[in-house]
Amino acid sequence: MSDHDFVSGGKPIGIERGEGPYLYTADETAYIDAGASFACTPLGHSHPAVVDAVCEQVENLIFIDSSYPVQSREDAYASFVASTPDGLDQAWFCNSGTEANEAALKFARSATGESKIVAATRSFHGRTMGALAATWKDKYKKPYEPLAGDVEFVPYGDSEELAAAVDDETAAVILEPIQGEGGINVPPAGYLETAREVTDDAGAALVFDEVQTGMGRTGSMWACQNAGVTPDILTTAKGLGNGLPVGAVAVRDWIADGAASHNATFSGGPVVTAAVHATISTLVEEEWPAHAAEMGEYLTAELEAALGDEVREVRGEGLLIGIELKRGANRAARDLAMNHQILALPAGRTVLRLLPPLVIDEADADQLVGALAEVVVSES
Ligand SMILES: *Cc1c(COP(=O)(O)O)cnc(C)c1O
Repeated sequence: MSDHDFVSGGKPIGIERGEGPYLYTADETAYIDAGASFACTPLGHSHPAVVDAVCEQVENLIFIDSSYPVQSREDAYASFVASTPDGLDQAWFCNSGTEANEAALKFARSATGESKIVAATRSFHGRTMGALAATWKDKYKKPYEPLAGDVEFVPYGDSEELAAAVDDETAAVILEPIQGEGGINVPPAGYLETAREVTDDAGAALVFDEVQTGMGRTGSMWACQNAGVTPDILTTAKGLGNGLPVGAVAVRDWIADGAASHNATFSGGPVVTAAVHATISTLVEEEWPAHAAEMGEYLTAELEAALGDEVREVRGEGLLIGIELKRGANRAARDLAMNHQILALPAGRTVLRLLPPLVIDEADADQLVGALAEVVVSES
């Protein structure tokens, strides 16, 4: 928290260091990170594989323009593309999630020659003028209008409304395979398949925003793999560099072939790509997505058993979990932090969101469940 930061707000817990799923204050009080790092550290805090790769790269070369071949960049492109579904063979690194979505919308427009974007209610795609236009909440948008618009919103999860909105003038449909910020909303079976069919029929690009769902969190490397649906453009960021600022888009050939001029100064910088390569290699080799699936199942079952009728619903996939409370999520999050040393996140007014590093174990999960049971029961 800084006296000079007029945007971020402050929390009264000073964090000094992190290790695995834990964050420590100066007096070594341990907090479980169940959302404080916003899904940005799938391998846990300051994971040695990432620390080593980054330190080595910093000493060798911190920056050079992306048109010069550099080993860390080559490695990161190779491991990223290998991790995505077949058919997404071209990629581009940027600096954040909003920038990845910005690129996706630009590439879709240039490849299709159309301009209309179809997005979903309760979506979150970022806060720059293009991605913000495809984001649902008026609170984020209204004061900044006009945005880079031509966006039509359809109710998330409704296949018929989606099919009706997509036509020959549609450049892209942009969807989160599971909505994060909007409340951990899992679409009904068949929804992503419908999105694939209607965009194919219209010649539009299907964009999956996996900024929050990606990097193993839902039990597969990418959430769209759970549904068996491959988009034309997949965007990601958050956990991609295990905490370093980096985003990416992976695209099919027709999108890459149709892309007009686009780039960014820091695209694929050596340090962040060293982090990307180390993060993806470790996730894949040590099979952390499978661990996330297992822990997610365990945690969800334990939460349902412990919270029962005290909550409306526990939902999600893997370690992307939302608990729909009967009352305000902000108060529950504060109580968890101050009284139980657990840092969780609200997603909307009544949903508490759990986004722990994928490396949590059963003891951590049990601690989460015990604390949540106390917080939820004491409030009702
Ligand atoms: C966080 C998020 C973004 C924006 O990412 P930034 O790196 O903050 O710009 C976009 N889409 C989704 C689904 C997100 O969760």
